[in-house]
Amino acid sequence: MTNSFGINIIPENDKQRIEALHRYKILNTPPEGAFDNVARLATQIFRTPISLISIVGAEEVFFKANIGMGNARKTNRGDSVCSLAVLKPEVTVFEDAASEPCLLANPNVAGSFGLKFYAGAPLITHDGYLIGTLCIIDKKPREFSQEERVILEGLAAIVMDEIEIRLSAIHENEKMHEINAMLMASNEEIQASQALLKTGMDKLSASEARLRYMVQDAPVAIAVLAGTDLVIETANRKILEYWAKDEAIIGKAILLALPELEGQPVMALLQEVFTSGRAFHSSELKAVLNLETRLEDAYYDVVFQPLMDPQGITHSIMIVANDVTEQVAARKKTQQAEENLRIATESAELATWSLDSASGEFVSSPRLKQIFGLDADAMMPYEAVIEQVRSDYQAIVRDAFNASIRRGDSFNIEFPIIERQEGKERWVRSLGKQIGTRNDTGYITGVLLDITEQKRDEQRKNDFIGMVSHELKTPLTSLTAYIQMLKGKAQKSHDDFSYGALEKANKQVGRMSNLINGFLNLSRLESGKISITKTRFDIAALIRDMEKETIESITTHEFIFEPVPSMIVDADQDKISQVVNNFLSNAVKYSPAGSVITVSCVTGDGKAHVTVKDEGMGIKAQDIDKLFDRYFRVENAQTKSIAGFGVGLYICSEIIQRHDGEIWVESELGKGSSFHFTVPV
Ligand code: ADP
Repeated sequence: MTNSFGINIIPENDKQRIEALHRYKILNTPPEGAFDNVARLATQIFRTPISLISIVGAEEVFFKANIGMGNARKTNRGDSVCSLAVLKPEVTVFEDAASEPCLLANPNVAGSFGLKFYAGAPLITHDGYLIGTLCIIDKKPREFSQEERVILEGLAAIVMDEIEIRLSAIHENEKMHEINAMLMASNEEIQASQALLKTGMDKLSASEARLRYMVQDAPVAIAVLAGTDLVIETANRKILEYWAKDEAIIGKAILLALPELEGQPVMALLQEVFTSGRAFHSSELKAVLNLETRLEDAYYDVVFQPLMDPQGITHSIMIVANDVTEQVAARKKTQQAEENLRIATESAELATWSLDSASGEFVSSPRLKQIFGLDADAMMPYEAVIEQVRSDYQAIVRDAFNASIRRGDSFNIEFPIIERQEGKERWVRSLGKQIGTRNDTGYITGVLLDITEQKRDEQRKNDFIGMVSHELKTPLTSLTAYIQMLKGKAQKSHDDFSYGALEKANKQVGRMSNLINGFLNLSRLESGKISITKTRFDIAALIRDMEKETIESITTHEFIFEPVPSMIVDADQDKISQVVNNFLSNAVKYSPAGSVITVSCVTGDGKAHVTVKDEGMGIKAQDIDKLFDRYFRVENAQTKSIAGFGVGLYICSEIIQRHDGEIWVESELGKGSSFHFTVPV
């Protein structure tokens, strides 16, 4: 920078001054109307041709306002008189520039411009920096009074105020900028959070939709009742189904939708939930509903859940319900059935019991204790029950129970017990059956009946039959002897008629003695007198003997004896032939003359298996089970004319059981029967 003044024009604090100046953002900026006005005012007040508002920069002086100096916008700091005016806070005045030593070299003074007068009041910032001047210039020398200095200072102060206003405007602006930036930032944030909110809302509405869908299709009934009037706000498909209503009821008060609920306990419960704010749970809550025009009892497992606002005030109730009407009906039916059963068992004097084989717990009805001669409150453990069974039957009873526990077999057994009160013997019949398993072990239950009286009757009958049979046998034996003698005589005298008649009489006596033998067998069996004497024999030989005998004596039917391999059994030979004989004579009795009867015997599974098959009348399915019962006979027109007492098969089954074998029949009505038994080989 050139300096035409020949003195230092840079103040000590120029650096800070320049910095302060920069705050105002005023350098090299276009002229502004407000500054021009002040400068123009100055020319008018002081009657000078020129007035400038100059800002003294580091290198140059800028004219913020320029009245009378043409288009000049700036000048070199080293040539501008204003550079001198910013060196002190007072007004700088050169009344005649030509006489000022420091201005003599100044181009404005020495040059063609011809500056003669200069007065410049510094522009002083609020913090004391002299950043420029308001000056007036004239081309002729003049005097400048003290008042004029004050006026010029006043005008400079106005300019400075204007500049300070700019600064605060700049500050405001900056603040505005900042705020703007902040606003923008927050705007962005808002936009971002709006985006987030939108995705959140989307998710929410998706999950709401899902929830609505779930509620709508939930397998349980759901409804939301709002307000004290319990207006149906939501009702899913299931609950509409329960109520037998459609969506038209949504938005209605519950009593308008379901007027039948008026006065029912469920309404009081709902009101209670509303006022107390406490949830209500119940199983099998009854409601009478108007279903398809008739009132019906319905039962529900329900939860009434109050829904509250953040202040804890109930605004609605959510109902979750599950229709259990069918279960309740089923249970009532079961209860009814149980009651019927109880009446039936009581009137039949049936005792009932159950045994949990895992815990060994034996539960008995009062009647059972009564039969066993125990007090109603007496304990009855399983072992004690067995102890009361007559000793020769204990194993049988135990076996029956065990078979039921292990294999699920049902049993139906008769056995004597020793009653506790008087030590008397009582006969009982018990039926038992496994009813599912508890803890994977047998749980069996059954009934027990006192059959002492029946047994006594049977005993009396057996005794009578035994006695009568025995008494009949003696005369029958002599009768047979006489018939034999007479037959011999008739043969000798060639009396064919008598011979034939005696032959027939002999046959009848034979049948009679068979019958009597049957009864005798029975009464022996009943009184335990039938005994099994086992020997080892070949069952093939036994069947061969029977074949010969049968073919010789029975000519009415065709017999097929299938070949039998030799097999040794350990059994009572007489009793086994009695069983085969019984099968054979039944086959003859219950099948038409000329039909085929097939006898076979095979081995397998360590057993000899004998079958007698006929082509006779067969047996109805419902009779098959009873066939081996004592005195059982199939009653129909055909069997009426066939002699028999229904004891043969009973005796057979007793014999086979005592051999640890099995006996059974396969038959179809009208198509013949196959009677089977097995004995261990
Ligand atoms: P019964 O002396 O009456 O023949 P059983 O005990 O031998 O006595 O037989 C019992 C009943 O079984 C008979 O009354 C008969 O109704 C039926 N029954 C036995 N065997 C046959 C068979 N082979 N075919 C059809 N029914 C039979």
